[in-house]
Amino acid sequence: MKLAFIGLGNMGLPMARNLVKAGYEVYGINRSKGREESFAEFGGKVGLSLKELAQQADVIMTCLPMPADVEQMFLGPEGIVSNGRKGLTLIDFSTVSPDLCVKIATAAEQAGMNFLDAPVSGGTVGAEQATLSIMVGGSKPVFDQVLPILEKLGKNIYHVGEVGNGTVVKLLNQLMVGIHTQAASEAMTLADKMGLPKDMLHRILSNSFAQSRIYDRHYTQFVEKDTFQPGFALNLLHKDLVLVKKMADDIGAALPIGAHVEQLIDTAKTKGFGEKDMSAMYLYMNEKNEQ
Ligand code: NAD
Repeated sequence: MKLAFIGLGNMGLPMARNLVKAGYEVYGINRSKGREESFAEFGGKVGLSLKELAQQADVIMTCLPMPADVEQMFLGPEGIVSNGRKGLTLIDFSTVSPDLCVKIATAAEQAGMNFLDAPVSGGTVGAEQATLSIMVGGSKPVFDQVLPILEKLGKNIYHVGEVGNGTVVKLLNQLMVGIHTQAASEAMTLADKMGLPKDMLHRILSNSFAQSRIYDRHYTQFVEKDTFQPGFALNLLHKDLVLVKKMADDIGAALPIGAHVEQLIDTAKTKGFGEKDMSAMYLYMNEKNEQ
């Protein structure tokens, strides 16, 4: 079976490597060529064009940053749906909107291809350790066919119904990731102001109701080490919260806290924190407290 993986970034590279490790023949494509070299050093194959892979691969997987990147990759004139062969299976691991998933799936189906939306959660550590949660929308028989591949990438794999549903679940996850990020950042910066050591706070709150996986991630992997290289860029969290807000607006649901966190992150982006890991909301809050 020939697999293609497009988008060898913070998530895609370790995911594609896990497929190579599992013995699959995997061809990688990335916009910046240094990532392709890293993939090749690990035993991944490179050098085939998107059009060649769309004709030759059995399954094409994507993990791209923004909805516009995903739309272009699948539906653009040079994209996969216009150039792929019938019978091709497409799996998108990126976080986009449910509407875009349905649009791609409809075009793919008309071209005789199968599309699954399969956003992931668990971060770069989950991608490296193959412990991701994967929430999949689309045809159940197609899901069953590709399950052995997904099992090489994640530990908790869920089929959640029709196409787009995986993305709805993922966006609800991101709403809580955003709010928990802000909650942890506010508590840590307030602790700083009060002169309370953050390691003590983390130890105690880890055994209290305030415990959260996001607080634990942000503190142990970033704040404690004073390093904010992503990880998961704040720009991407902002993109997700904009998608959540659109999803809520479309259905007429209120998001008083979620919408406010989206605005705070938007401001943090304008202050230059966008390329940093999302845990840098702690830095932004500290900066705000200094003003
Ligand atoms: P990233 O920016 O680290 O990686 C994206 C990669 O795609 C980059 O290497 C970029 O060069 C490449 N790329 C962009 N456009 C391309 C194109 N047209 N052709 C080929 N390559 C292209 O992003 P990431 O953190 O890996 O996130 C990817 C997706 O996964 C996003 O939708 C994000 O929301 C989602 N996600 C990320 C995390 C995380 O912790 N980083 C976790 C869950 C989900």
